[in-house]
Amino acid sequence: MKYCSSCLMPETRPRITFNEKGVCNACQWAEEKRTIVDWEKRWQQLLEICERNKKRNPKGFDCIVPVSGGKDSSYVAYKMKNELGMHPLTITVQPPLPFEIGNENLENFINCGYDHLRITPNPEVGRKLSKICFIEYGQPLMAWIIAVQTVTFRISVLFNIPLIMFGEEGEVEYGGSSALKDVPFYDVEFSIKVYLSGIDPRQFAKEFSEKELYWWLYPSEEELRKVNLEIAHWSYFENWDSYLHYLIAKEKCGLKEMEQRCIGTYNNFAQTDTCLYDLHCYLMYLKFGFGRCTQDVGIDIRRGALTREQGLNLVKAYDGEYPEPFIEKYLEYFRMTKEEFDAVLDKFANKNLFRKEKGRWIPTFEPH
Ligand SMILES: [Zn+2]
Repeated sequence: MKYCSSCLMPETRPRITFNEKGVCNACQWAEEKRTIVDWEKRWQQLLEICERNKKRNPKGFDCIVPVSGGKDSSYVAYKMKNELGMHPLTITVQPPLPFEIGNENLENFINCGYDHLRITPNPEVGRKLSKICFIEYGQPLMAWIIAVQTVTFRISVLFNIPLIMFGEEGEVEYGGSSALKDVPFYDVEFSIKVYLSGIDPRQFAKEFSEKELYWWLYPSEEELRKVNLEIAHWSYFENWDSYLHYLIAKEKCGLKEMEQRCIGTYNNFAQTDTCLYDLHCYLMYLKFGFGRCTQDVGIDIRRGALTREQGLNLVKAYDGEYPEPFIEKYLEYFRMTKEEFDAVLDKFANKNLFRKEKGRWIPTFEPH
């Protein structure tokens, strides 16, 4: 496998590109952020967008900030409200199998002074959708990933809120499509193609009624046109620095970290919403040969906190860790036997990268 010469992201990551020096697009972008991106100009652009949207909805909410109680979304909401003078409606789509720490952090965040709306799409429909996405696509978290997009769009239409501010654009920041590098807004088509890995939720209309799927379907084109929605990512306007967000969220929004490191990585303060994320990462590892640690190491190498060699040691120690403590919870959630569950892992394990030994998939590659 070919790896980025700067971080440790392999060529198997979907949509990733490399330059002639073997540097991935995330690392090229990290360099551009330091050298050529005109942050002042982008910040001005943000100010204009905010002023425009304040006028569009002077008595109500002028933007939506999807939040989880985690460091990044808390930071964005904090800045939108306190620095840009916006009146955000913060919203949370209830994740399946939530961690207690995630709930606590969300409560702490809201209590710091935010208007907040929690949407819980029908958990039974969510469970079935999750199971379908797990079995068909090896994407156990996809039902929630879809809802984070579609619910947010729906709320915008329902409350006539013209601006949505997500956190980071993961493709540009972590490797993938560079389409939004120089473009502040995206639309439904892009949302499906890239963030939902092409899984258009309308396809579930075979198994579920439109009513059951309400929170998993995008609003109609006409509804979206009426609200004239603008959907942006904060990382377009400000140099994204998740460690800084962690510090600010701890200070201003009551963020707490997990007591132990997360499975598959060395840190304890990212993606602590649901234990299905651990399975999501494990499947990513089986499909593509990189896991949660590779992602985290990339972030830390790009911000200069780790050398590539230190990162490599961490990847060798933690990447692709089996989410052992949660297996029972997964089986209960998906209503599957261990054999059925293992069959899904077997289906998606990349046989060019792994071989099975004593019931577990063992890598036949070595990160380098
Ligand atoms: Zn890289």
